[in-house]
Amino acid sequence: MPVINILSPHVADMIAAGEVVERPASVIKELVENAFDAGAKNITVEIKGGGATYIRVTDDGCGMSPEDAGIAFLRHATSKLRDEEGLERISTMGFRGEALAAISAVSKIELNTRRKGDVEGTRVVLEAGDIKDMLPWGCPEGTTMTVRDIFYNTPARLKFLKSDRSEASACQLAALRCALGHPEASVRFIRDGNEEFFSPGDGRQDSCVYALLGRDAAANMLLCTGENDGIKLSGYVSSPSAGRGNRREQYFFCNGRFIKSALLQAALEQAYKNSLLTGRYPSCVLYLDIGFSRVDVNVHPAKTEVKFTDEKKVFDTVYYAVLSALSGEKRTAQVELSPSTRKLAEPKADFYRSMSAAEFRANSFSVTPPKPAPKVPARQDSSRPSTQLKSPAPVYQTRMDLPFRPVSAGSDPKPLEKPEVFPPAGSRIVEKPVQNVEKSPIPDHKIVGEALKTYIIVEQGESLILIDKHAAHERMIFDRLKSQDRQIMAQSLLSPVTVRPDGGDAELLEQNGELLTELGFEIEPFGQDDFIVRAVPADMDAGDVPAAIEEICEKLRRGKGPDPREARDEILHTVACKAAIKAGWDNDLKELERIVQAVLSGQVKYCPHGRPVSVTLTRKELDKQFKRIV
Ligand code: ADP
Ligand code: MG
Repeated sequence: MPVINILSPHVADMIAAGEVVERPASVIKELVENAFDAGAKNITVEIKGGGATYIRVTDDGCGMSPEDAGIAFLRHATSKLRDEEGLERISTMGFRGEALAAISAVSKIELNTRRKGDVEGTRVVLEAGDIKDMLPWGCPEGTTMTVRDIFYNTPARLKFLKSDRSEASACQLAALRCALGHPEASVRFIRDGNEEFFSPGDGRQDSCVYALLGRDAAANMLLCTGENDGIKLSGYVSSPSAGRGNRREQYFFCNGRFIKSALLQAALEQAYKNSLLTGRYPSCVLYLDIGFSRVDVNVHPAKTEVKFTDEKKVFDTVYYAVLSALSGEKRTAQVELSPSTRKLAEPKADFYRSMSAAEFRANSFSVTPPKPAPKVPARQDSSRPSTQLKSPAPVYQTRMDLPFRPVSAGSDPKPLEKPEVFPPAGSRIVEKPVQNVEKSPIPDHKIVGEALKTYIIVEQGESLILIDKHAAHERMIFDRLKSQDRQIMAQSLLSPVTVRPDGGDAELLEQNGELLTELGFEIEPFGQDDFIVRAVPADMDAGDVPAAIEEICEKLRRGKGPDPREARDEILHTVACKAAIKAGWDNDLKELERIVQAVLSGQVKYCPHGRPVSVTLTRKELDKQFKRIV
């Protein structure tokens, strides 16, 4: 018979640490949540490398007494819960008294803390959960927790950490989620001495979203509010034209806590059912405010999953609120900065770097009534650097800062040639100018016109043919690219585009460098976080590069492992889709003629995803519909 042992508290702590501390990002989440619970208004998170060697979280919260500082690291030491009844109404982020015990068990910690009004503070130094030093200490009011060398005493776990780049971006995401969930506190994130983001802490959801997700994301958000039997929902959802290739920009918060919820995700996506293309996902920042007794947060160690007592009501609240936001009744209130701040805010973080919280507040936001979506000519918006930019090339973060392209902007003329790139001399694959299609090899047809800026209407013999112009053009490009021998022709970009993928995507780009080169991308790491794209497949537009890279990473992630040819085809789909003319654009008749030729000749039947590119209505069918014949 095996003998049962009671584990020592130290081993028990190390096991608990595995549940709470999965990676440096989990430490950040726990420390920032403690700062919120301490009533902090200003929180600074600093990391070095990927965070495993150094994390420091500073807050201006209530601080701890010397006695509390000594016991805070013991298991089940918490000031937030006293008894069983308390579990029913948890209003703080923490309550189990587990996090500090778990973190300290696998790292080296320095805690400096001083309560408001106390003459001096306390310093506690710990290694692997043991207090090495504890003494009175002169320090500012609030708490500073420095965590070093995470997993130094558990080498097996250390081995599982990913590259510094991946870990750092997971840390950044953890801090960003905390910051988004608490617009009332200002959170600053500093990585290797550089400020990556800063939330103003003015209590407003709109300025928080603007500061953390960027101007372009904010500009495409619709205000979303709703209430149902005491369940309140507020926040923002993306307009249907700003759908994304993945769900990474879906942020749900329940009582200030970031949560992952299949229920909320389903409610959100159900509401978009008929307004988003398949394969595109909405983004959102939604805050659910629900009585503490109606939600159980005690079902997951990191508390990122919750259980609602009344799931149906929660689903309906979200579904109907999103539906009503989309119906246009509450078209946002676009967030606008005052002119002076706007100038500073141009695309990236210089603005946040150079402003203190007080300055930010001084340049306060103003809210303007809804405006119709601006008509941005597709060529100008992102492929050329804005004149206000100081850097020569625009910097987009594929994860957080991606410009959403106005798909339904109405009149986006997009000629098939690409004037802002250099097609290499003698290129085999640059499309022939459309003027060449003068003499039609298929004489027996007439383009009647175009319906809904999407379908070309063609009369041929006794039939009427409707052609989906985007699907057909996408197929033409896809077939041409596929028929090239291994190497797809690349074109150098006049101004290289810088993208900032998150850690996971960065690794994928590095690992698949060879495949990407073969497909015409010239892309390489650039500085600490960025990648520079110097060349793209000859069909692609510079403005489409950030979105394409994001989509490609998603495909590489999904297609991990299987046949590399499949990954190649998937990426060619992306290139073809980005290069093809889009529904909603105004196109020259000659451009349409080329597509019609390809379809009528039988060369193009299905889009690369297998959808038909044309629908035929015969005279007989029409006559039947009109009861001319029976
Ligand atoms: P929990 O948050 O579940 O109570 P933790 O292990 O995270 O457990 O923290 C233990 C206790 O230490 C908290 O209940 C709180 O009293 C104290 N504490 C932790 N961090 C801070 C902080 N930043 N400011 C003030 N008190 C803190
Ligand atoms: Mg805690």
